[in-house]
Amino acid sequence: MKANFNSEILDIIYKSGLGFECVSIGEMKRLFDLMPNIDRKKIIFTPNFAKKSDYIWALANQVIVIVDSIYPIAKWPDIFENQDIMIRIDPGKGDGHHDHVITAGSHSKFGIPLSDINQVLRLCEKYCIKIIGLHTHNGSGIKNISTWLDTAKLLLELSKKFKDTAVINLGGGIPIKEKLNQREFDFNKFSQMLIDLKKNFKNIAMWFEPGRFIVGESGALITHVTQIKQKDDQNYIGVDVGMNVLIRPILYGSYHEIVNLTKYDQERKLLVSIVGPICESGDKLGENREFPETDEEDVILIANAGAYVRSMASEYNLREMPDEIII
Ligand SMILES: *Cc1c(COP(=O)(O)O)cnc(C)c1O
Repeated sequence: MKANFNSEILDIIYKSGLGFECVSIGEMKRLFDLMPNIDRKKIIFTPNFAKKSDYIWALANQVIVIVDSIYPIAKWPDIFENQDIMIRIDPGKGDGHHDHVITAGSHSKFGIPLSDINQVLRLCEKYCIKIIGLHTHNGSGIKNISTWLDTAKLLLELSKKFKDTAVINLGGGIPIKEKLNQREFDFNKFSQMLIDLKKNFKNIAMWFEPGRFIVGESGALITHVTQIKQKDDQNYIGVDVGMNVLIRPILYGSYHEIVNLTKYDQERKLLVSIVGPICESGDKLGENREFPETDEEDVILIANAGAYVRSMASEYNLREMPDEIII
């Protein structure tokens, strides 16, 4: 849900039979509004440092709740007593395309550390809480197959301690290709290694929560050139969207391919920064890009905008949101 909450896209995903992972009450309410008949067990609620009433709401609405800290169970046992839940484990080290998207390890605020596992077991026994699944989400854009394998091994091993576990959930983070010359993620190897691991755990299902992988490549951000400026050796091309719509480059140093569609066939002989109209020095969508001679009104395409673009956009500078069109 947090990668892209466009209602038409959610509808396509729903009709294809997938479930949804939500991190807030707002995301779940959006789903209930759009799909009143959705099987509630197709919705996973994965909050972090959420308030007590959020858990109460989620359990009352019969979605799958994933608890990612010992605190809720220890402090509010009455909420969880006799319930089925999943727990989010912090395997101790995360991975991802930038420090800010690594969601495991002691410097990340997510997950139950392995050192708390025995206490979780004791509390769950005491309050008759059934742990029906073990979850991790290590980060975003995890290209390293060994990170996936290590996590799967850890959860499968832990499932021996948690007798009611029917699922291990490896979370999101399946990468997409961001640069044209980037090596493809080796899916065959990835799936074969996981299938081999699972052979010894026939009764345990394996779930994933891919966000970017499903929607990232499906979106393009289209804008046009506003102005051009040269300062010493720096060429700036201004476009009509900024970091209010595409925050990822300044937030994570993310790379989005940017092309001038109007001059697509022309030689790319300039080195430019593509910048937006926002009043921040960090309002750069791409730097050191090879670009053709460009003019006002040229149409610019920013690729891989289907995930974490519109959903992370803000009203900063009170700029209008771009229209969303599904083709
Ligand atoms: C953000 C998130 C995902 C999706 O991550 P992607 O990098 O888009 O695949 C999955 N699970 C959880 C718990 C998340 O917070």
